[in-house]
Amino acid sequence: MQNLHKVSVQNLRGVGPQLAEKLKKLRIETIQDLVFHLPLRYVDKTKISPIGSLQPLTSAVIEGTIKACDVVFGRRRSLVCKLQDNTGIVTVRFYHFTWSQQRKLRIGTKLRCFGEIRRGSSGSELYHPEYTVISDDFPIALDDKFTPVYPTGDGITQTRIRRLCALALAELDNNSLIELLPSYAVKEYSLITALKFLHNPPVTTELHILATGRHLAQRRLICEELVSHQLSLLQLRQKIQRHPATSLVEKLEQRDKFLAQLSFKLTPAQLKASAEISHDMTKPTPMLRLLQGDVGSGKTIVSALAALQAIANGQQTALMAPTELLSAQHRLNFENWFKPLGIKIAWLSGKLKGKARDYQLNSIADGSAKMVIGTHALFQEKVKFFSLGLSIIDEQHRFGVHQRLALNKKGVSSDVTGQTLKQLPHQLIMTATPIPRTLAMSLYTNLDFSVIDELPIGRKRIETTVVDSSRRAEVIKRVAAACVSGRQAYWVCTLIEESESIAIQAAEVIANELKLLLPGLDIGLVHGRLKADEKINVMNNFRDKKINLLVATTVIEVGVDIPNASLIIVENSERLGLSQLHQLRGRVGRGADQSHCVLLYNAPLSHAGKERLRMMRNTNDGFKIAEKDLELRGPGEVLGVRQTGSMHFRIADLSRDAYLMSEIKVLADQLIDNNPELVEHLIERWIGKSQEYVQA
Ligand code: ADP
Ligand code: MG
Repeated sequence: MQNLHKVSVQNLRGVGPQLAEKLKKLRIETIQDLVFHLPLRYVDKTKISPIGSLQPLTSAVIEGTIKACDVVFGRRRSLVCKLQDNTGIVTVRFYHFTWSQQRKLRIGTKLRCFGEIRRGSSGSELYHPEYTVISDDFPIALDDKFTPVYPTGDGITQTRIRRLCALALAELDNNSLIELLPSYAVKEYSLITALKFLHNPPVTTELHILATGRHLAQRRLICEELVSHQLSLLQLRQKIQRHPATSLVEKLEQRDKFLAQLSFKLTPAQLKASAEISHDMTKPTPMLRLLQGDVGSGKTIVSALAALQAIANGQQTALMAPTELLSAQHRLNFENWFKPLGIKIAWLSGKLKGKARDYQLNSIADGSAKMVIGTHALFQEKVKFFSLGLSIIDEQHRFGVHQRLALNKKGVSSDVTGQTLKQLPHQLIMTATPIPRTLAMSLYTNLDFSVIDELPIGRKRIETTVVDSSRRAEVIKRVAAACVSGRQAYWVCTLIEESESIAIQAAEVIANELKLLLPGLDIGLVHGRLKADEKINVMNNFRDKKINLLVATTVIEVGVDIPNASLIIVENSERLGLSQLHQLRGRVGRGADQSHCVLLYNAPLSHAGKERLRMMRNTNDGFKIAEKDLELRGPGEVLGVRQTGSMHFRIADLSRDAYLMSEIKVLADQLIDNNPELVEHLIERWIGKSQEYVQA
């Protein structure tokens, strides 16, 4: 058979439209998809393990003679057999059993069992193993292969998916699946041998190596997949950079004047990042730069400098923020900064309607508004720019990749994929998530990087304490004391059970409770269900110190900057990931005052919960926190699910395989130089049509 990626699974025996539909949910549509659908793990039923050598948390086949079998009345009634061979004794336990079972499992009977070994109170135990009664007269053969366990779902049994994979493998030959890596990249395993091996590893294979994902056959496929992703990112960068962009020259005089009117001096790190950005913008090709800096490091002002450069060249700048609150805050800041310079600002929010909206749209279209600020609303069809020279995206991890692409397409022209090379805007992407190097290499290889690696001088380390929620009363006293002394505080109610509405309810309840307990304070409430202008109103009151204590849901999680707030209480902190806690904590520590963060938790803490909170108490360093989060919860948590969700890996796992990235980078460059004809094929095989969305 030829070209397995074009042959539908329905060509396999026994696969009709119904099953094909179910397989589609597993992203299996072609025979090639099945061939790349690899086992999650393998079960070894090929040999009998001596009872004395059993290790907890492994699965094993054992044989032994029943030495005792009794119904035991513990916390739960169970049937307990003692099984012995000449190396040791093990407990086999059934919580559900029938009378006939009990009768069969008599002393002296020989059993073969298969199951997972656990550590019980009296040594190794197996719960509800598969078992057969055996006798020396009628030996039963053992399996001669490992049993693969495949990812599956929705009414497709293991047996079925195993059979389908076997059928697909039978179609596999050099014509049906072409080797795409050149010989210098293929060491031990060719593509086909690696695939065959992994569906059906020979019994001599060490399963514990396969479990780590580092077997050479696995590496062969992981490398091909990662290199293909790498190539697709590089190719997108090339495609974008083939387009011209307006060269935006530096206007130092205006820049210096602007800096002079600020109440602070930029840090060396801010100046360096700004210089890198500025230099990119002078080029006649589109900038693609990621500005990374921990929460509170002062990215906004750096983006304002970039905007100023574009505007000084007669071009428009668009700044997109992920929430209404944040876009409103940016509007305030940019108005303060730019109005004195006579720069008109347009602000587009989703809620803006009718005439007011038309007015904003017109001033964007006729070019009179040079600075355009908004949320997702910015890339709706109706928004037409007069001459967009720079697009800035704040808190990029909150946006899906295609949303960013859409804003870029708003350039002086549009279509990235079009035939004629039209002009594109420069693009600056900002993130407060420090991205571990290996992840950056795999996801953002097509972007240039600037890093702000220091906080403005005078900032103090935020003191973090972890407090059992049974001690709320003390925490409330502390909040009262802080507010009475003129400081401001946040009280954050976070999601419980994934339900926003429960979090909102909790916030309402707490706001009322605190109002009763602290009648002398002005207490505000902000959450996602308020109308946009109500939210912004509350925030402005907080900013203007008309509110002492702001009870909030996680709507304030990103970007909100109110330097006088110096205390934050986070409820249910044990349920949150490290990166999210770090973002929330970053709402304070933005001024010169000593700031504090109180993480309330509900006992008892899980081991992982304890570890996370300890980490938060011990470090303020966003980089260390992101690396730990990557280790604990994977890239989806660090970068935002939307971000990584659009990058679907079949075999590779970014956190597990990060160690391969330098090798992959070299290989990608080699392929581009030596084998450009293979690049398209690799991208087609591993990424296919989703390519466009992978642009970072
Ligand atoms: P983030 O990097 O988290 O987006 P912001 O841009 O919101 O940080 O800046 C945080 C706060 O620090 C703001 O109030 C901003 O005005 C202030 N700021 C920025 N740069 C400096 C600096 N060099 N010195 C003092 N304060 C600064
Ligand atoms: Mg910010």
